[in-house]
Amino acid sequence: MPVTEIYNEPMQDLIQRLLIELGEDPTREGLVKTPRRVDKALRFLTSGYQADIDAMLNGALFSVDYSEMVIVRDIDFYSMCEHHLLPFFGKCHVAYIPNGKVIGLSKIPRVVDIFARRLQLQERMTNQIAEIINEKIKPLGVAVVCEGTHLCMAMRGVEKQNSYTITSAMLGAFRDQSRTRMEFLELLKLRGGNLSVTGLPVPGHTHDHDE
Ligand SMILES: [Zn+2]
Repeated sequence: MPVTEIYNEPMQDLIQRLLIELGEDPTREGLVKTPRRVDKALRFLTSGYQADIDAMLNGALFSVDYSEMVIVRDIDFYSMCEHHLLPFFGKCHVAYIPNGKVIGLSKIPRVVDIFARRLQLQERMTNQIAEIINEKIKPLGVAVVCEGTHLCMAMRGVEKQNSYTITSAMLGAFRDQSRTRMEFLELLKLRGGNLSVTGLPVPGHTHDHDE
């Protein structure tokens, strides 16, 4: 198949070759600009690698005399499964118990974005979010619960189409004190009502499909 468009960017070249491998004609009207679009989209969807967490949190860490649980729930996340390069997405709920410091509330979804915008496993993303909060403000405890729909499973019919994967990371007081953990889980249930998590920690639903 003759390739008429020459791309300067190696990634766009690769996408054009991918289209040919899929049996497509990359010169047809609808596909001519696809390599450029995919290049741009993939760079955005993996922009978390370049993000500077410290710069983002700069000026958003505050000293407080407050040690009640802080919860930010229903944070939308969109990520890419590293096994299939297909999206997985859903909601992330973050809680921590301050130990002298808090993070500006609007920064928590930014932290989630930074770890979601990479090639990921939901289990690892969940842990990374918990660990960075732990590292930056040394709270008494951190809990992160993510519920994700994986298109690599749903679209290919590997699992029931409406099933979702729940992963959790519990550090400090959330790991050591079941009362603290249960309080967090109760608060998660209060609003949405559709979060069917009981008796966490949930063993990360392993996402190790070989095909
Ligand atoms: Zn996958």
